[in-house]
Amino acid sequence: MIVNFNQAADVERTLLGLKGTGLADMVSLGLSVPPGFIITTDVSGRVHDNGGIMPDDVWQGVLDALKQVEQQTGRTFGGAQSPLLLSVRSGSNVLMPGMMDTILNIGISDSVVETLARDTGNTRYAYDCYRRFLQFYAEIVLQIDKRTIQAASRGVLNSANVEYEDELDEARMKEVVDALKKMVEESGRGGIPEAPLDQLRAAVRAVYASWNNPRAITYRRLYRIAMEHGASITIQAMVYGNLNENSATGMMNTRDPTTGEKTLYGEFISQAQGEDVLSGRLAPLSLKQLGETMPVVFDQLKKAGRMLEEHYRDVQEIEFTVQDNELFLLQTRKSPRTARAAIKIAVDMAREDLISREQALMMVNTETLNQILHQNIDSNVAVKSVARGVPASPGAACGSVVFDIESAERSAEMKQQVILVRPETTTEDVRGLAAAVGVLTRRGGRTSHAAVVARGMGKPCVAGCEAIIVNTEAREFTVGDVTVREGDIITIDGSSGRVFLGKVPMRRSQLTDEFRELLAWCDQVRAMGVRANTDSPEDAKLAMEFGAEGIGLCRTEQMFQTADRLPVMRAMIMSHTERERREHLKELSAMQQQDFIDIFNAMQGRPVTFRLLDAPLHEFLIPLDTLLMEVALLRAQGARGREMEAKEELLSKVLQLKETNPMMGLRGCRLGILFPEINEMQLNAIFEAACNVARNGGEVNPEIMIPLVGHVNELKLLRGQVDTIAAKVMERYRVEIPYKFGALIEIPRAALTAAKLADICDFFSFGTNDLTQTTFGFSRDDAERKFLLHYLDQGILNNNPFETIDVEGVGRLMAIAGHDGRQVKEDLVLGICGEHGGELETIRFCQSLAVNYVSCSAFQVPIARLAAAQVVIAQKLKSQ
Ligand code: PEP
Ligand code: MG
Repeated sequence: MIVNFNQAADVERTLLGLKGTGLADMVSLGLSVPPGFIITTDVSGRVHDNGGIMPDDVWQGVLDALKQVEQQTGRTFGGAQSPLLLSVRSGSNVLMPGMMDTILNIGISDSVVETLARDTGNTRYAYDCYRRFLQFYAEIVLQIDKRTIQAASRGVLNSANVEYEDELDEARMKEVVDALKKMVEESGRGGIPEAPLDQLRAAVRAVYASWNNPRAITYRRLYRIAMEHGASITIQAMVYGNLNENSATGMMNTRDPTTGEKTLYGEFISQAQGEDVLSGRLAPLSLKQLGETMPVVFDQLKKAGRMLEEHYRDVQEIEFTVQDNELFLLQTRKSPRTARAAIKIAVDMAREDLISREQALMMVNTETLNQILHQNIDSNVAVKSVARGVPASPGAACGSVVFDIESAERSAEMKQQVILVRPETTTEDVRGLAAAVGVLTRRGGRTSHAAVVARGMGKPCVAGCEAIIVNTEAREFTVGDVTVREGDIITIDGSSGRVFLGKVPMRRSQLTDEFRELLAWCDQVRAMGVRANTDSPEDAKLAMEFGAEGIGLCRTEQMFQTADRLPVMRAMIMSHTERERREHLKELSAMQQQDFIDIFNAMQGRPVTFRLLDAPLHEFLIPLDTLLMEVALLRAQGARGREMEAKEELLSKVLQLKETNPMMGLRGCRLGILFPEINEMQLNAIFEAACNVARNGGEVNPEIMIPLVGHVNELKLLRGQVDTIAAKVMERYRVEIPYKFGALIEIPRAALTAAKLADICDFFSFGTNDLTQTTFGFSRDDAERKFLLHYLDQGILNNNPFETIDVEGVGRLMAIAGHDGRQVKEDLVLGICGEHGGELETIRFCQSLAVNYVSCSAFQVPIARLAAAQVVIAQKLKSQ
């Protein structure tokens, strides 16, 4: 379907796409929008099936709609008088900022440019439009390499001694047009048609094709957006922000999308066009300056902003152009925002009665909340920055410098933290941003695409940092007399815009009042409990601060990984006799007991699930490769004596413990069965700690969880051990402690025999990390590196099953376990403690299984609280 903006009010929104809907709404609100029409999203599949070419009936529809625009504007496309130029832009039903292409000034040619110059009396402007069109067409339609296009203007720019075309005078602008035409001619990619309709047809085809450009594909994958073609196309009369000094182009958000403050936020560039603000090449001016230079226009813009915010009941990002003191609105959409802003906006709008509390909860995206819990530069530490740019996306990040997307991706694969440094921001950078921990650019503003995308991803971004000179070829940047090379470490602070050399101490931010309020609203709505996975007293305190209602997983082996405990643990493993082993275990027990006491105290009576030792023992020893090298070196040096003997002994122990497939080997409950004294030590420590706290008036609720259970007999054996030790300790302390016993369900056989397990369990906790590993047969350590990303690229899997639960397979096992377990024991408690625990879709699924609680890392607790509320609200909305 093809619809004129002024007839689109009643058309289904999904057909119009977000951009089309915004334009149609603005027209029906009586705002000033240049006339145009939309090719709806349902056509896009047909175009795609037709090899990317518009079928004849669609093209005929375009021609008819174009006539209407000619009437509305009083201009003629390709006309010898008052020529109409058009823009072709793309839209879809999900926000994909800048991911698809736009072509401006279509319909200009050697003859039209002269008419335009005559009509306006401004030849420089007419040729500026022409050169922009040539650049767009060359890149997007003819697919000529961007560097080749840039190189074409280089000679003229150099002789004029300027950096960008915007700075050229009329004569030079004409020279650039000639140079661009020559470049196109020599490219062998076909020419640029003179006939405006031929230009239009080719432009629409190219914009459709941009649905599948690499950055759009990456973006959709990152945000789990369906790959099926779903673009709408907007064809609209051009307005000219580059016409004269009373003209400008800009962007305005109705509230600050970085902080959420109720102040207008945006920038503009005078005598500029289209996406100049977004590209970040030119230094934009603040809206305050717009108020000073064009007060009437600024007032109109403010009024339009208020109207649109009230209409959508959400903060809007509005793209505008001023043509000779006349304001035109080109786009309105929900502002992409930082998590901090999202929270403030949601809470403020609910307080302002613009939205309900439940609507406020649905307004905050759980995934971006990660950034609020982000690290920031520790303000107590005095450090000197080397440069300062625009604070474009908050949070601080530290990493080694890379200069291109490929290096960023390679480093990310090797789990290295990198900061992507670029001369200016382009939408291509989305891939690099996904791989990097932060981005630093020399040019660009807060609304440049890279900043918008970084904010959405919750990654720190410093943009417009003019003090750095980036040389991507030499893989270095200079700031003052310092040269920073690829691989060097820097720290960026996206909250203040500062850049530091080396690593700077960081701190996590506190919860804001608005965030606390929002979370309190969540707690009134949600049905599911939220616990934390933590294994230190410090983390337990943090978890409490974030609102955890208990600890759902304390991985006790993590407690042995500190500098003072590891040697004792190693000595225990190296022991020759049980007696020797028990000696070391006693020492470890005392250390663990104090931690357990501190954890109980921190949790103030909330349940704490202690998982008995799970990791294979060799994980505590020096890795085999390292040891082999050390021994070989010592041998080569002819070393002898105690040191050599100790190393040899260690090597032989490591070799003895080595397994072909340790993830499926001697770990989990198998360890405790083979070495009962290890479990004994841990159980003594837990129950003694509990009795100690209880004796001092504290409340304790320990839960003992057995990892990697596959057979009920394993569980029976261990339940016996737990009960015996618990009874003995309680008797010794003369205190009664309530405790629970449960199984970590992380092996398919455990899920399938849940009825038997439930008989001797008070609770099941789904260990979805291992359950995913064992259900798919994917090694959780290797899959992502080796083949999983390929699977995602190829669409074999839609989601990474280690991030979001595989409902069909892993989820089915969970459903069986939950159902069968509760058939035997009605009040069997169900929890989930794999990494999936803090993820929205997993929480939605868990809610459908009536899981009692999710347990996730302390930092994810607020996210899980929000997600658990959102799934309840979504369910309610669905059933209405
Ligand atoms: C799990 O497997 O999901 C789990 C919680 O245990 P771990 O990640 O420690 O193996
Ligand atoms: Mg596990």
